[in-house]
Amino acid sequence: MSEKKERLSFRQVMAYSRRGFAIWWKVKPELLVSAAVQRAADALAPYLPLYFTARLVNAIAGGAGAGEVWPLLGWLLASTAAAGTLLAAVKCWDETMRYSHQFPAWNRIFFDKLLSMDFCDVDDPKNQALFTQIQQARQWSGWGLNKLYSLFSHAVGAVFRILGAIALSVSLFTLPVRLDSPLVWLNHPMCLAGMGALLVGAVLLSGALSNRANRYWSEYDGTQGNRGFSFFYFIAMNERHRGTDIRTYAQDKFLEEAGRQNMEGPTSFGPNSLVGRAGRGPMGAFRAAAGAVSQSFMGLIYLFAGLKALGGAFGVGSVTQYVGALAGLALGFTDLLEVMGELRANGPYLKLTYQFLDIPNKMYQGSLTTEKRSDRKYEIEFRDVSFRYPGADTWALRHVSMKFDVGERLAVVGENGSGKTTFIKLLCRLYDPTEGEILLNGIDIRKYRYDNYLALFSVVFQDFKLLAQPLGQNVAAAERYDRERARECLEKAGFAERLGSLPKGLDTCLYREFEDDGVEVSGGEAQKIALARVLYQDAPFIVLDEPTAALDPEAEAEVYTKFNDIVEDKTAIYISHRLSSCRFCDEIAVFDHGQVVQQGVHDKLVETDGKYQALWEA
Ligand code: ADP
Repeated sequence: MSEKKERLSFRQVMAYSRRGFAIWWKVKPELLVSAAVQRAADALAPYLPLYFTARLVNAIAGGAGAGEVWPLLGWLLASTAAAGTLLAAVKCWDETMRYSHQFPAWNRIFFDKLLSMDFCDVDDPKNQALFTQIQQARQWSGWGLNKLYSLFSHAVGAVFRILGAIALSVSLFTLPVRLDSPLVWLNHPMCLAGMGALLVGAVLLSGALSNRANRYWSEYDGTQGNRGFSFFYFIAMNERHRGTDIRTYAQDKFLEEAGRQNMEGPTSFGPNSLVGRAGRGPMGAFRAAAGAVSQSFMGLIYLFAGLKALGGAFGVGSVTQYVGALAGLALGFTDLLEVMGELRANGPYLKLTYQFLDIPNKMYQGSLTTEKRSDRKYEIEFRDVSFRYPGADTWALRHVSMKFDVGERLAVVGENGSGKTTFIKLLCRLYDPTEGEILLNGIDIRKYRYDNYLALFSVVFQDFKLLAQPLGQNVAAAERYDRERARECLEKAGFAERLGSLPKGLDTCLYREFEDDGVEVSGGEAQKIALARVLYQDAPFIVLDEPTAALDPEAEAEVYTKFNDIVEDKTAIYISHRLSSCRFCDEIAVFDHGQVVQQGVHDKLVETDGKYQALWEA
C-alpha cells in the first residue's frame, strides 16, 4: 500500500507491548482481569455442549438404555444453561468495566502526562502534532494503547480456545482402532505423526494466509481517509457549525461530489481506493486461499475421525466432538496469528505513544517553600530577562528588568505582539527565561517548589475557559468548597443580581453540554465568574491578561477600575493594549517589541515624548 509504516523487529514489538500492558495494569488492573475472564469463558463455553452431545450420541448409537441416556441429557441441559448464565454475567461485568473505565483510563494516562509536563513542552507545536497523531490513530481504528488492550483480550480468548480444543481432541489420536479392523494401519505412529503434521501445517498455512490478507488493512494508514469520512459524511449533522452554511449556499451537490472524490482517494475506503482495489485483488485472493485451506483442513478431520470411528476406536458421537474441537483449534490459531500480526502493526503507534509519554521534564524543580507570609511581603524582580520561544529565532522578550512590590498596581501596556503575555507566562513560570533571572524576595524563582510558587498567582488569561460544571465549583475551582465565600466573591465581582435569578444558585450548571437546564452565560458574565474565581483563590498576585478583550474600551476600563477596588491589599497586574484601562495604576510598563521602553505613572508618561504618548494619541 502507499503509506508503508515502519517495520519494527519482533523483539521491539514485544517490548513495546509489554510496556503498554504494564501501563494498563497500573491504571486499571480490573480492566484486564475482566477482559481475560470474559474471553476465557467465551472460548470454553461452546466445548461443554460439544462434549455432552458426543457422550449422548455415543450412548444412543451404542444402544444404551434410558437409565444412561436421561442423566446425560440432564447434564447436557444443566451444563449449557449454567454456562449460558455464567457467560452472560461475565459479559455484563466486562462490558461495564470497559464502558466505564477503558476510555477514562486512556484519558487519564494522557491527562496526567499533559498536566505534569513542562508547560513549554505542552505548548510546543511539535508535541501537539505528536499528540494529535496519537489521537487520530486511536480514532481511526483504536491503534495504540487501546488496540493493545483489545488484542490482549483476543489473545486470551485464542489461547483458551486452543487449550479447550486440545483437551477435547487428544483422544482422537490416542484411542486405537480395533486390532481386527482393516483400518488398523491408522494406529501406526507414522500415520498419527503424518496426520498431526498435516493438521498443524493446514492451521498455520490458513492462519498465515488470512494474516497476509489482514496486513493490507493494518499496514494501511487510513487516518487521512477517516478524517475525510468524518468530515464529509457527518457534515450535515454539524448543524450549529456548518449545517446552516450548507443550506444557505446549497452546497449539498458540491459536497457530495467532493465526498465521492475523497472516497476514491488512495487513502480512503471507496471501491477505487487502495483498500478497495486490494479487496478485489491480492487481499481478496489471500482471503480466498485461506478459506480453501481451512475448508480442506475440516475435510481432512472428518475423514480421519470418520475412519477411526469406522475402525471402532470410538463412537459416532465422538466424531462431532473431534471435528468441533479441531475446528476450534484452527480458529484459535488463526486468531493468535492475527493477534501477532496486529501487534506488529500496532508497534509504531505504541512507539509514538511512548515518544509522547517519555517527554522529559527539563525544568529545574527547586525545593524551597514560599513561606505563607501573613504580611504578604513579596517582591518580584525581573533581572535582565530575555526569552525566545522554543524553535523561534526572534526574541519575544529582550533585556527586561523590572521590580515590583506586593500591594502595587502594575499595568503592562503595549501593542499586540509586544510581549505582554510572554512576560506573564515567565512570571508564572510556565516558561523559564532563556537569559537572565526572575527573583522572588531575592531568590531565583527556579529554586522554589513549583506548586508552591504557582500558588502565589491567580491569572485570568485572555482566552480563559470556564467548565461546564456548577457555578460554585467554577468559582472555587474545586468540587467541595466554602459556599458562603463563593457567594461573597461572586457578589464582589458584580454577579450578585444574576446569581439571585439563577434557579439553582451556586449549583446551577454552566452551559448545556451536560445538563439540559444549564445556563448559557454571556461573555461579560463569564468574566465576572472568572474574576470571582480569582478572588476566591486569595493569592497575593493577581494578573488580568486582557480577559476583557471582547468588551469595548469603556466597559474594559470600568471592569479594571472596579476590580482595582476589590483586590484590596493584593498585587494586581493589568495587561492591556488599551491605555485608558490602566490609567489608575501605580506603575505602567510600556512594552514594545519585547522590551520595556518606558515605565512610570500615566500623568508623567503622557507628557513625555515616547511610545506611551504615541499610543495614547493614536
Ligand atoms: P502580546 O501579549 O503583547 O500580544 P505576546 O507575548 O503574545 O504579545 O507575543 C510576543 C511575541 O512572541 C510575538 O511576536 C508572538 O508572535 C510571539 N509568540 C507568542 N507566543 C508564541 C509561541 N507559543 N510560540 C512562538 N512565538 C510566540
